[in-house]
Amino acid sequence: MGGFRIVLTPWRYKYILEGGSKDCFFCEYAKRPELDQDHLVFYRGKYSFGVLNRYPYMWGHVMVAPYRHVADLEQLSDEELAGLLKEAYAVRKAVVKVVGCGEVLMGANIGRAAGAGVESHLHIHIIPTCKEIDPNTPAETLELMLKRYRDELARLWS
Ligand SMILES: [Zn+2]
Repeated sequence: MGGFRIVLTPWRYKYILEGGSKDCFFCEYAKRPELDQDHLVFYRGKYSFGVLNRYPYMWGHVMVAPYRHVADLEQLSDEELAGLLKEAYAVRKAVVKVVGCGEVLMGANIGRAAGAGVESHLHIHIIPTCKEIDPNTPAETLELMLKRYRDELARLWS
């Protein structure tokens, strides 16, 4: 294993096209905990929250974002930055456990040039690189994944 491979994910264009809105969905999600189930938010930590990617590159693909609308890591305080990374690392552990795959890519898209759909709200992608996903993943499968991540993080943080 190892090495880098280009993954074609044509179904993501739907997301890219719908992403034309000026509204930031991370901020919207952060403000509406009562809609976490619909938004596929699987945890709310002290510094960050996590969202299951509805249009994933790979099976189990999640995003971790700070609550505050900042574009870059340097706009976070030292405490916020450490907290964000610590929580993202716990999520990575949960991803490894739930997906059953030790190969995980972690990366932050910064700015539109980097290919981010939401250009101005910093977020970290955590992407298992071992299991490809069916582009027609049914909603109930995403819900099951959501539950597994919630349970695993509850276990890790208990
Ligand atoms: Zn935002």
